[in-house]
Amino acid sequence: MIIGAIEAGGTKFVCGIGNEHGEILDRISFPTEEAQATTQKAVDYFKDKNIEALGVGSFGPLDLDINSKTYGHVTTTPKPGWANYDLLGHLKKELDVPVGFDTDVNAAAFGEARFGAAQDLDSCLYYTVGTGIGVGVYAGGQLVHGLVHPEGGHVPVRRHPDDTFEGTCPYHHDCLEGMAAGPAIGKRWGQSADGLAEDHAAWKIEAHYLAEAITSAILLLSPKKIILGGGVMHQTQLFPLIREQVSKNLNGYVASSVLENMSEYIVSPGLGDNAGLVGSLALGIEAVSDRA
Ligand code: ADP
Ligand code: ZN
Repeated sequence: MIIGAIEAGGTKFVCGIGNEHGEILDRISFPTEEAQATTQKAVDYFKDKNIEALGVGSFGPLDLDINSKTYGHVTTTPKPGWANYDLLGHLKKELDVPVGFDTDVNAAAFGEARFGAAQDLDSCLYYTVGTGIGVGVYAGGQLVHGLVHPEGGHVPVRRHPDDTFEGTCPYHHDCLEGMAAGPAIGKRWGQSADGLAEDHAAWKIEAHYLAEAITSAILLLSPKKIILGGGVMHQTQLFPLIREQVSKNLNGYVASSVLENMSEYIVSPGLGDNAGLVGSLALGIEAVSDRA
């Protein structure tokens, strides 16, 4: 079985084909430019691949309400040509196969649940910490949607006592993304996040903010695994700092033996940097069985 997958990111599109075991067999990537032209490039890639279904994990915000007239549209983005763009409709019309469609982070959470770090679990959270912060929510064996979809990158966080940085979020200033995404780190310290030394004070502050959000998420959703991906999480020294701070925040209140072994609870993606594409593939695999 050959299934198509698109990781539709705000800066680049990754298209690939894979099989029902979650193995990627071929891929290409190109920059995300104007909506029609970019989507057409993806369509052209799949045209001779004989795919049975397609999975798409897309940047958003997206309309994921299947009863809505604008289901499958990208909604309010400032990206040229993308606001109110019918991404799902365009792909379905051109490729004529079942399409599984969700946010990029929900796709990654789903991929991790099917083939990665949360295999065989019925819940997990997937955080990407990069240019922005997004959170995919898989709960009770399903990806969570609601009014729209979770926007866990923008939750409020308590300020670190030594931090006076105003935050970069144009909506909320000092929400999680405004304090802890790559550009916030860069602006706070006056140099790019990827150039900061492993023992720089930045990472303790970074871990504080991520631990704030993760603590709230554990209390609210009780996920069985928390997976942290994205460029910033290549700073692997963050993991022990985050685990320690989350434990401190919870202070023994949540009674689960799983939390006694934090190094297996808060983890990097089992699929590595492929979480997004394999997640999209998993959505495509699901779309085949939904049709059956
Ligand atoms: P995107 O979110 O655009 O898909 P990334 O996940 O690579 O892409 O995130 C890019 C952001 O992450 C940039 O702000 C960059 O400074 C930061 N970043 C990327 N790699 C690293 C790294 N190794 N260490 C720290 N920050 C990084
Ligand atoms: Zn915000």
